[in-house]
This record gives sequence, structure tokens and C-alpha cells, in this order.
Amino acid sequence: MSANLNLNSLNEQIETCALCPRLRTYCKEVAQTKRAAYQDQEYWGRPVGGYGDSNAELIVLGLAPGAHGANRTGRLITGDKSGEWLFRALFEMGFSSRPESNHRNDGLILTNAYITNAIHCAPPENKPKPEELKRCGSYLQNELQFLQNKKVILALGSIAYLQLMRVLAFSRPPKFSHGLETALSDGTVILGSYHPSQQNTFTGRLKWDAWIQIFKQAKARIEQSSTRAP
Ligand code: SF4
Repeated sequence: MSANLNLNSLNEQIETCALCPRLRTYCKEVAQTKRAAYQDQEYWGRPVGGYGDSNAELIVLGLAPGAHGANRTGRLITGDKSGEWLFRALFEMGFSSRPESNHRNDGLILTNAYITNAIHCAPPENKPKPEELKRCGSYLQNELQFLQNKKVILALGSIAYLQLMRVLAFSRPPKFSHGLETALSDGTVILGSYHPSQQNTFTGRLKWDAWIQIFKQAKARIEQSSTRAP
């Protein structure tokens, strides 16, 4: 079976998952009450699977669907301020067909990049519980197995980074920092970046130059890896 078929089936499984009652209830409630600005829109309200190029060399790992972002639009890191930064950067570096991402049906195409999350349901206050992260981690583990061409995994924020390292059974992972770079035994490079959340970008903790630099770093590692390949 191709990676694409496997990823498609996995995403179908994720989208109907009900293993975390607290999160499923929260996502449905948010989808019914809605934010005032989106009252005329139909919210997705379900778990949100990963998406992108199944042959990707760059994997972007976010934290969780935003209650009024991905939980509304049905696509990860889409429809909120984090998405504005992410897709502008992906577009500038040649991974996305468009600089903005609005909805799962907006026609945007990712090339050589795949986006997934540490957890696939929006948690209250953006804070998943450890047992919820652990449960959803098995999906991430499967996704990473299907993404066989990955060269760089970019973890956005410390929670995504620690989830990734746990799923990869990486003992004693280096402390998270912006620009952190470490390699797995198979050569896959793990990069860490501050999450482009509104909290980080509005306060100046994450500035555009430091953000785009991470993508340049990712691209350089992908190119080096291609040069080394037989
Ligand atoms: S967070 Fe993950 S494991 Fe929990 S219900 Fe959502 S998709 Fe399922």
C-alpha cells in the first residue's frame, strides 16, 4: 500500500476518533456556540488529521488545533494568526502554493511538506492533558512511519517537541530552544522553533527574521541530505 493510501486511511481514522471524551465534548461545544465573527460559518468540530505531501522531506509538527482555527476550518494551523505566519513562511520557501491558508477547501497545495500536530483535537485553553497527549501520540507515531521520505521534522513549541521525542523514544532529549537542532540515528534532523502563536509573535518573543531563519535551516538540511544520498 502506498504512503498516501496509508496516510489517507489514518486521517479518516483520526477524524472519527473519540478516545478523549473531554476534548470531543469541548470541540463540539465550541462548534455549536461559535465565536461572534464566525456565526455564519459551519465549524468542522471534529478531530483534524494531518495534510500535505505524503512524500515530504519537511514535516511541520504543531501543537493542537485552535478552537476557532482548525476546529473551525477543518485543516491544521489554518484560519488563525499562527497560520498566517506559517503559510507565509512555507510560501516564501517554496513549500506552499499560497501565502495564506483559509479553509480545508481553499485549493492550497503543499509541496515537499506535510503538517501534523502533537494532538488532533482542540483542548480547552490550548492545554492538553498528559494522558490525552499520550493517547494521540500513537497517531503521530503511525504518521511518521508512513512519511518515509522525511529529512527534517520541525517542532513548533516545547510541548510538540517533547511529544515528538517521546513518540520517537528519544532518551534524554536536548532541552528545547528556538533553533535547536539534533539528529536521529537514521539521519532525520529535528529542529525546534518557538510556536508562531499570537502570544509569541505579538510580544516579540518570536520575530519574523528568527522564524524564517528556521525554514532556511530546514531547507539547508534537506539539501545537504540530498547531496549525501547515493
Ligand atoms: S485527541 Fe487524538 S486520541 Fe484524543 S480524541 Fe482527539 S484524535 Fe482521538
